[in-house]
Amino acid sequence: MESWNFLWAIVPVAPLPHRVLDFAPSEDTLATHMHEVRSEVRALLHAQGMRATAARIAVLVTLHEQAGPMSHEQVMEVLSEGHYDKASVWRILADLADCGVLSRMDLGDRIWRYELLDACRAITDDHPHFLCEGCGGVSCLPPLEVRARDGALPAALQGANFRVCVMGHCATCASA
Ligand SMILES: [Zn+2]
Ligand SMILES: [Zn+2]
Repeated sequence: MESWNFLWAIVPVAPLPHRVLDFAPSEDTLATHMHEVRSEVRALLHAQGMRATAARIAVLVTLHEQAGPMSHEQVMEVLSEGHYDKASVWRILADLADCGVLSRMDLGDRIWRYELLDACRAITDDHPHFLCEGCGGVSCLPPLEVRARDGALPAALQGANFRVCVMGHCATCASA
């Protein structure tokens, strides 16, 4: 039996875009922002032929503001006011993932996370993620490319789809 004696090199192909909020937004700016986000997510729902219910809007606004993957539990923490029950939020996340409004992923810890990828984020659909095994924090990574350290991929893997999953400890956990 042939041995798999090649090593993977994971090579970043583009810099990671950062969302930098370098000003303290006034209440007006914040209200305008939230108004825009709400109409944006309403349009996303309508484009799918889905009714823009208060609960769906709340879930999408939460994910929009997070600008990264969130678990059901994390979404519930944000929607903490007691207006939304766990089961309906589960249902909403599942429906939105099924119709492609959200991407759904398991980053290796068997927890489903959901991410909203919309025009506000300069990152491609298929970007990989880093999961911190210490605090459970997740960061979006720039697009990565998988290749064998000594050249081309074995023929069996050409045309394969890779789902890159990166784990370790984030800077905060590593220095604790
Ligand atoms: Zn951490
Ligand atoms: Zn991401």
